[in-house]
Amino acid sequence: MNGWSSALRRLAGALLASILPADCFLCARILPWRQEGGVCLPCWSTLPWAPGFRPGRGPLDALLWAADYEGPTRRLLRGLKFEDMDYLAQPLGREAAGRLAPLIGPLRPDLVVPVPLHWWRRSRRGFNQAELLARPLARHSGLPLSTRAIARRRAGRRQLGLSRQERLSALYGCYAARTSRVRGLTILLVDDVVTTGATLEACARVLLRAGASGVIGCALTRTPKTF
Ligand SMILES: [Zn+2]
Repeated sequence: MNGWSSALRRLAGALLASILPADCFLCARILPWRQEGGVCLPCWSTLPWAPGFRPGRGPLDALLWAADYEGPTRRLLRGLKFEDMDYLAQPLGREAAGRLAPLIGPLRPDLVVPVPLHWWRRSRRGFNQAELLARPLARHSGLPLSTRAIARRRAGRRQLGLSRQERLSALYGCYAARTSRVRGLTILLVDDVVTTGATLEACARVLLRAGASGVIGCALTRTPKTF
């Protein structure tokens, strides 16, 4: 009898925990059972995905993005980066992979590489958002992923408010690539947001110098006004 009542209590506790109300991050309605990373299904299914493509620019063979950095996608990425909502990365990366597959396929990349954070910033945040987004993207594209192909050696200045040229010079010498991991490969270089393209270009330069045969930039979102 005692065993039954404690089992029932545990079951009741588990049920209660699973139905305790949490609000959708986007519309603030109470979340039902089925949800994607803290976002209700209606909000999730109406995210404004807008995959886009730009051919070669500087060291990049091409640049792809899955959505514009505005509205709900901007709020989700800001939540992911600044409000510890790292669980959003998996469903976002998976959705982006589906949308980008027709663009990525013909470019035939060999390896997915996330843009690295400096170790100091990474340890403060607890994760690298580009890496969290790149993992499901790699899995759904059937490609291997390397987090050690490229490293950020210097923290560098904050980029907010800098022009493209200022960003490029601030990033000079910030990154280093490992020849043994990239030689002869076409790299799909992944970041969360592309604003001027300076970060992706700086990474692409060191990858090419280390022997990569090509680099495709791939951002989950792009800032439409600046890029
Ligand atoms: Zn919602």
